[in-house]
Amino acid sequence: MIPVETALERLTALADALDIEDVPLDQAAGRVLARDVAARRDQPPFAASAMDGYAVNAAEAERDAQFRVIGEAAAGHRFDGRVGAGQCVRIFTGAPLPEGTDFVIIQEDVHRTGQMITVTHDPGTAPHVRARGADFSAGATVSAPRLLRPQDIALLAAMNVPAVPVTRRPRVAILSTGDELVMPGETPGPDQIIVSNSFGLQAMLRDHGATAEVLPIARDTVASLQTAFAAARDADLILTIGGASVGDHDLVGQVAGELGMEQAFYKIAMRPGKPLMAGRMGGSVMIGLPGNPVSAMVCGHVFVLPVIRRMQGLEARAPDLMRAPLAAALQANGPRAHYMRATLHDGTIRAFDRQDSALLGVLAAANALLVRPPHDPARAVGETVGYMPL
Ligand code: AMP
Ligand code: MG
Repeated sequence: MIPVETALERLTALADALDIEDVPLDQAAGRVLARDVAARRDQPPFAASAMDGYAVNAAEAERDAQFRVIGEAAAGHRFDGRVGAGQCVRIFTGAPLPEGTDFVIIQEDVHRTGQMITVTHDPGTAPHVRARGADFSAGATVSAPRLLRPQDIALLAAMNVPAVPVTRRPRVAILSTGDELVMPGETPGPDQIIVSNSFGLQAMLRDHGATAEVLPIARDTVASLQTAFAAARDADLILTIGGASVGDHDLVGQVAGELGMEQAFYKIAMRPGKPLMAGRMGGSVMIGLPGNPVSAMVCGHVFVLPVIRRMQGLEARAPDLMRAPLAAALQANGPRAHYMRATLHDGTIRAFDRQDSALLGVLAAANALLVRPPHDPARAVGETVGYMPL
C-alpha cells in the first residue's frame, strides 16, 4: 500500500498535456487556454464617458458655471467638432469624449434651458471619464495555461480575440465490469444491480472538460474484458470500474497486464478506494477503479480529476484542502487516509455516521469529503479539519 500522495505523483507522471486546437469563443468556456493570447486593441479604445451628462473642460467645471450645448455624443456616435471655452456637449455613457473636453458633469448636477446649462451642484473632482486603455492595452496577455471561466471569455471577446488555442478535450472510455450489472432502464435479474458510478464518473469528467463515453458492460470473463479493452483503445484515459480486487472474478489487472499494461502501482493506503491500479497501456493511461459506488466516485475526485487536469495542460497537483471546524467529534483514524462523506453547513463540518462505501445515498447527501490523514488522532468539536468540497 502506498500513500495517496505517492500514488498521485506516479499517476500524474503517466499523463502528458494533449495537443492544441483552436475553438471559437462560444465553445471556449471550461476549456484550458494552451498558449498566451494578446489583446488586439486598447479598451476602451478612446477616452469614454462613464455617465450621462455634459462633457466640458475640467478647468471650467464648477458650481454656477454656464455652458452652451453645441452638440451631442452618444455611444457609437462621436461629436466631431472641437469644444471651446464656455461650451459643452451633451454626452451619454460609452460615448467618446469630444476634443477639448476631459470632464463629464453628470446630468443630475445641471439645469438645462434650451441650449444653455447651468451647473446647480458642486460637480466634484471625479471626471466620470474612462481613460483610453483603462481596462487593458493592445498586447496585454491572458496567460496560459488557464481554465477559461465566463469572465475570461468576456475579457477575450473585448480583446477582439474570436477564437482561442485550447488543449484538446481528454477522451475517456469508462468500462464497467461485472456479471451482476445492467444498464439503467433495463430489467435486472434477481441477482443483478444497476450500473451507477459509471454514470457518476461520466458526469464528473464532463464537468471538468473531458469527453467521456460509457462503454457496454464487460462481463467477468477474459474474453469479454479483452473485447472491452479493444473498444477503449483510442481513449486517452481508460477507466475500468470493478474487478480490481483479488477475488476469483477480479480479472481486470490480469487482462490489462496481458494486453501490455505497465502497472505503476496497485493498492493505496486510503478509505474508500484501496484497490486502485494504474499504468500505461498502449497510447492510453489506464486507471482501474474499485467497483464500490462511493469508492469509485471518491477515487474520481482524488485521482482521476488531477490526471484530467494534467492532460489539459493544467497543474496536476490536487488543490489545497479547504479547512473548517468540526461540528461533531471524530474517533482516531487508522493507518489509511480516510475520505469521509460529510456536510458543511454554516461554516462547520460534520461527517456522516454511516461511511460504508456502498452507500450512494449518503454520498449524494454530502457536500464535502472530510479528509483524515493516516493515524490522525481523535478530534474534538471545534478542531479544524481539511476537506474537499463536492
Ligand atoms: P468489484 O470491485 O468488482 O468486486 O465490485 C465491488 C462492488 O461494487 C460490488 O458490490 C459490485 O457489484 C459493485 N460495482 C462494481 N461496479 C459497479 C458499477 N459500475 N456500478 C455500481 N456498482 C458496481
Ligand atoms: Mg466485480
